[in-house]
Amino acid sequence: MIVTDIKPVQEVLDALGGYRKVFVVGCGSCATASRTGGEEECTAWLQELERSGKEPAGFFVPEETCHVFLLKSMIRQSEAAASADAFLVLACGAGIQAVSAATDKPVVAGLNSMFLGTTYRAGEFLKYCSLCGSCVLSSTAGICPVTRCPKGLLNGPCGGMVNGMCEVDNTVACVWVDIYERLKSRDQQKSMTRINKPKSAGNARHRKVEPQRIARKAHP
Ligand code: SF4
Ligand code: SF4
Repeated sequence: MIVTDIKPVQEVLDALGGYRKVFVVGCGSCATASRTGGEEECTAWLQELERSGKEPAGFFVPEETCHVFLLKSMIRQSEAAASADAFLVLACGAGIQAVSAATDKPVVAGLNSMFLGTTYRAGEFLKYCSLCGSCVLSSTAGICPVTRCPKGLLNGPCGGMVNGMCEVDNTVACVWVDIYERLKSRDQQKSMTRINKPKSAGNARHRKVEPQRIARKAHP
């Protein structure tokens, strides 16, 4: 999931500037799990808008905000959304841009997108993947060096590792030591002799639409 953080209230209000009637869009997926864009946070923002002298138009929380067609349909069916001067979006960057592609109205970001995370337990996330395309996890014992080594080394460890600890942060183990130990426990340490080549773009299975095309469709 995409882990998000709440922007400072004043930054959002500054961005909303002179827009008076504001409709809030949350996200029922990642931002709800991050506790940044669920119903509770949308409601809190409606109250904040009222306190700031604006007119809260209402809110909805799509199942997935990073879905342009879904948003277009929800916006079309909502009189409150149609009457707003601007949208405040509590979702990741993909969700904010989806709203922007689904409407001609101004869109303001309510959250900062932080990283692709794995949920450890409710409200706690591990930064585990950088979406780099050619995944190496099969040969690294299911531990990602691209994301978890501060230098993003595809082949490691680097020369700075000391007694198994990372030279960048000596309070944590070098991720390449973790990889080695886990491979060794499975008698697969030979994988360490494999040289991971520089990344290629890979084969995209999903249809990628150029953002410019979407923008043209959304704003004919
Ligand atoms: S190598 Fe690491 S960053 Fe790249 S796709 Fe795999 S898990 Fe994600
Ligand atoms: S010590 Fe290990 S984890 Fe730290 S930067 Fe070097 S290779 Fe990466």
